[in-house]
Order: sequence, then C-alpha cells, then structure tokens
Amino acid sequence: MQELKDRYGRKHDYLRISVTDRCNLRCLYCMPEEGVEFTESENVLSYDDIVQVVKVGASLGISKLRITGGEPLIRPGLDGLIARLSDIPGITDIALTTNGIFLAKQAKALKAAGLNRVNISLDTLDAARFRFIARRGDLSRVLEGIEAAAAAGFDPIKLNCVLLKGVNEDEIAKFLKLAYERPLHVRFIEYMPIGHADDNWRKHYLPLSRVLEIAEGEGYAISRKDSVKGNGPSDDWQMEGATGSFGLIHPISDHFCSNCNRLRLTADGNLKPCLYWVDELNVKEALGDPDAMRHLYYRAMDIKPENHEMAAKLADGDLTHVPTERRMSQIGG
Ligand code: SAM
Ligand code: SF4
Repeated sequence: MQELKDRYGRKHDYLRISVTDRCNLRCLYCMPEEGVEFTESENVLSYDDIVQVVKVGASLGISKLRITGGEPLIRPGLDGLIARLSDIPGITDIALTTNGIFLAKQAKALKAAGLNRVNISLDTLDAARFRFIARRGDLSRVLEGIEAAAAAGFDPIKLNCVLLKGVNEDEIAKFLKLAYERPLHVRFIEYMPIGHADDNWRKHYLPLSRVLEIAEGEGYAISRKDSVKGNGPSDDWQMEGATGSFGLIHPISDHFCSNCNRLRLTADGNLKPCLYWVDELNVKEALGDPDAMRHLYYRAMDIKPENHEMAAKLADGDLTHVPTERRMSQIGG
C-alpha cells in the first residue's frame, strides 16, 4: 500500500485522536470560561468508529497514536479503547495527553491496557494560580496524578507547561528545579493563537528563549540533548547532574512544519492535515468503506499545506489560507 507522503515529501506516521471536546477545566489559553458549546454525544465518533479509522491508517503506515481531547479521561472506558488500539497490527506506540485530574484513579488500568506514555499538563505549581489559569479543579489532584503515573511505571513522564507572559513566567526556575530533582521531562510550550485564544494570546505570548536565559541565570550547565523518546517537535535540553530534562516547543518563534509527520482526528469525526488551518475531511462519510477511508487519508496528504503562519499572525501579516475557528480543546493540541 502506498505510504502517506504529502506534496512536500513529508512522511506521516502519527495520528492524534481527540476522543471528546468536553473538559472539566477551562484553561484561559484554550477555552472561554462560560458558554462553550460541545458536540452532541450522538455526533461524537464512537470507539468502534475510531478503531476503524486507525485500522486503515495503520495499513498506510500510521504507527504512533496520541489520545487527547478535551479531557480524554472524562470519556468512560478509555482503557478499553486503548486496549483495542494497541491490538491493531502496526500500532507500536500509544500516548495520552491529559490534565491529570482523573489520572490517579486510572493510571494503572491505562498502563495495563497498553498505554505507553503520558503527558500531563501543568502550568503552575501554585494552587491559587492553578485556579486562575484552569479556572476549575485543584492542583493537588494533578500532582497526585503525576505520582500515580510514576507508580504505574510510565517512563518518561512529560509535563506540558504553556508559558504565559505575566502569569507563570516567574515559575520557570521552579519548573527547571523540578526537572533537575525529579525524573520528569518538562516541556515549555509557546502559547498558540488558535480558535478564540486571540486576545489573551496577544497579551500573554512569551518566546521560549526566556527559558534558556533563566536556566543559565540559575547556574545550570545546559546542553542540547538527543530527543526524549516520542518527542516530535521538542527541542530538548539537559542540565548537568539533573535527574530529569526539559524541552522547548516553539511552534511560533521557530516552527517545525518541515518535519511534520502528524494528522489529527477530531472528536466530531474530521481528519485535520494541519492544526492551524480550517481545512478538514469528514471521516463519517467513509465509515464502513475502507477504500473510501484510504482515499481520505491520501486526500489529507494532497491538501496538507507547507506550514502554518502563526508568526505572520503575530506580526499582523497577511495569511495565505483561512485559520481554523476551532478551539484547542476541539483539535486536541
Ligand atoms: N485536556 C488535556 C490537557 O490539557 O492536557 C488534553 C487536551 S489539551 C488541548 C492538549 C495540550 O494543548 C495541553 O498540553 C494544553 O496545555 C495545550 N494547549 C491548549 N491550548 C493551547 C494554546 N493556545 N497554546 C499552546 N498550547 C495549548
Ligand atoms: Fe481542558 Fe486541556 Fe483545554 Fe485545559 S488545555 S481547557 S484541560 S482541554
């Protein structure tokens, strides 16, 4: 079967699957605080549908999956889905991105089901600030989730920290210390202008060069590191003598589109070739028809753009395509 290669020669072997657009939190960079409209549950892809889409993808060379959302752990029976996905021939790696609130209860079952890796979102180590950023939920639950993931044997455990100017930039040193002392990989992520995030984004965008300045200012001897397992776009760093490490994900100041190997499946059944643009293909029309599903994957390769233009947006430049109006919680990050 012909592999998934786009017009720019990029081979695709990675599918990110959003299993729900619902979430128990309302992070200020991702969702509005009130009035979010969610996909009706009958319009959300069932686990059977997701398995069908992945089976066809695997026959075309998709080998890595990431389960995301919304918050994936609010969807019942996720361990059952993971067990089914891990049985699909060709699937070699399944990861999860979660806000961690429900992880303590589920970590063991997820590991037993075949989940290989976990990323936990954590933007602050301060309980009051957690409430400010996430608007709901408790930091202590996320911290319990991290401990439970370690106890269940997940390794590496990555923490996703979106840096926000004037909100958590004063915690960069604390996060570096955490990565120094614990076997955790802290990924600092640039705030992206997706969906409704625009106003907050102009106020809070912070380029990640700040992290390196602070690491040096704190006296760490830092050097570039070979990529931590499963890292796509991360630019990884080590601190001499540290137990953990850190990474920089800078989609805006230094975009990594030339190495993009990923497709995204939204909870309402659309295959997105690029996170940023509006273009997407409805997989529901191809359910039950593997040939039609294959055609959709190839079509996604044909329409995939060369890159996003978030930097142009930051500079108020002209864009060549139409940006998506979907929120990050609908796309899955
Ligand atoms: N609810 C899960 C979580 O928070 O980990 C999974 C879904 S969330 C959309 C996936 C990742 O996207 C999270 O690490 C989150 O911090 C990140 N994210 C959401 N909105 C973002 C934005 N505007 N810019 C950068 N990262 C964002
Ligand atoms: Fe929910 Fe994750 Fe978005 Fe926060 S980043 S609102 S936890 S989907």
